[in-house]
Amino acid sequence: MADPRRIPHFIHGQPRDGTSGRWGEVFDPATGAVQAQVALASAEEASAAVAAAQAAFPAWAATPPLARARVLFRYKALLEQHADELAAAITAEHGKVLADARGEVTRGIEVVEFACGAPHLLKGEHSMDVGRDVDSWSEHAPLGVVAGITPFNFPCMVPMWMFPVALACGNSFVLKPSERDPTAPMILARLLKEAGLPDGVFNVVHGDKTAVDALLDDPRVQAISFVGSTPIAEYIYARGSANGKRVQALGGAKNHMVVLPDADLDQAAAALLGAAYGSAGERCMAISVAVCVGDATADALISRLKPMVEGLRIGPGHQGEPDMGPLVTAAHRDRVRGYVDAGVAEGATLVVDGRGLEVDGAPDGFFLGGCLFDQVTPAMRIYREEIFGPVLCVLRVTDFEAALALVNAHEYGNGTAVFTRDGDAARQFAHRVQAGMVGINVPIPVPMAFHSFGGWKRSLFGPLHMHGPDGVRFYTRLKTITARWPTGVRDPEFVMPTMK
Ligand code: NAD
Repeated sequence: MADPRRIPHFIHGQPRDGTSGRWGEVFDPATGAVQAQVALASAEEASAAVAAAQAAFPAWAATPPLARARVLFRYKALLEQHADELAAAITAEHGKVLADARGEVTRGIEVVEFACGAPHLLKGEHSMDVGRDVDSWSEHAPLGVVAGITPFNFPCMVPMWMFPVALACGNSFVLKPSERDPTAPMILARLLKEAGLPDGVFNVVHGDKTAVDALLDDPRVQAISFVGSTPIAEYIYARGSANGKRVQALGGAKNHMVVLPDADLDQAAAALLGAAYGSAGERCMAISVAVCVGDATADALISRLKPMVEGLRIGPGHQGEPDMGPLVTAAHRDRVRGYVDAGVAEGATLVVDGRGLEVDGAPDGFFLGGCLFDQVTPAMRIYREEIFGPVLCVLRVTDFEAALALVNAHEYGNGTAVFTRDGDAARQFAHRVQAGMVGINVPIPVPMAFHSFGGWKRSLFGPLHMHGPDGVRFYTRLKTITARWPTGVRDPEFVMPTMK
């Protein structure tokens, strides 16, 4: 058999073969086969990527925002031309269905569209006469070299939450994408070069903890954007901050959807099906918990959901139009299956058991059928921990206040949703819930590119969310300039200047 394809780094505008001697396996989750090997960088290789970004920074920072935006406009057009290529790469390595992969590409392009507004986004503020004949204004200065470390579940969109805004603001960038699905980020890099981005402004270094630690400890890296699981997010935040860097680290989630008795239950069941099982539940904004107010609501919802979960069409993401593809690796599939075993052992009622699923023609793919639990309690592991698979837990509470208290007591606070026809209850929920993103009859309330994305509590470490106005704040630092043009020589002043 031929050697598997080898995926290199991308440094100073060129593919750069890995030299560490370490390689990671990239699977085809639909067949279980190894389809490529990805270079795992040594600390020296990560340092070379930072050096390229450092060398490219001054000229890019000095490029007027309008000229930077024009590169991004060309980039947007290229991304649209290559959207199918990107989607195919995502499906091949992540496993999500092709239509979902196309959606991911579109959500990434929307951040490029936002970043094309660079001249407007970077406009400062100006005050005339802050003192007599004294004017003052503020400017947004770029930081320098910034790095992004991203998860497997959105290999295209999550990097694009970061670098279009960072580049628009005049920074240079080093991306350390997930080693599970590294091909889409390489396409993103190739197209940036094609769009006219100068070499070295954007670099990709593949790898694991070795590469990440090298970025965290490199004094030339000014800021780190991270998206991934909470234990790693917390580690990145602590180590990056201790090294004096600006850090935004987005972590895991356990998103609750509260269903009130007056909700349209057909609507709620359909929304839950897509939000819990889309992308095989491997989304940080997936709904993994349904909180039903009243037993009648729970019974009615489950009677609708059960046949829908049993009827999910599951298969390879690039064949036909399945609802859901495989999980990303065998190890992750086994971990999720372990949670289902644990839920049964803890006494939850397994209404739909997807553990025995076999997919025709794909016996070695990393598939798991949809699983639905009822009678889950807050003490159970399947409730407390992020499963990140096609498993939905239903909890029953007596009233609205108990539902709200449950959501607020959970350690994660990424997204949440309420389904109701009662505007007052929805308004109460939105204002009192402890989560960063709230949906009202919207199951997955992912903010658009021109708003900012981020959770609360242990779903985000650091003060600033991603993209939108917070993205610009994160990737720039403020400089405030005070000027006067006096004629003649003034007497020295020895006291605090105040308005006279
Ligand atoms: P992960 O934390 O395992 O990996 C994320 C990144 O960190 C990868 O690039 C990986 O190489 C690196 N990494 C892994 N272990 C490391 C270590 N010990 N030291 C340094 N770096 C390390 O996450 P994942 O499995 O790729 O992605 C799934 C997780 O991401 C889920 O928890 C999900 O909720 C979360 N996620 C969150 C958001 C959000 O917006 N909050 C979005 C997408 C995914």
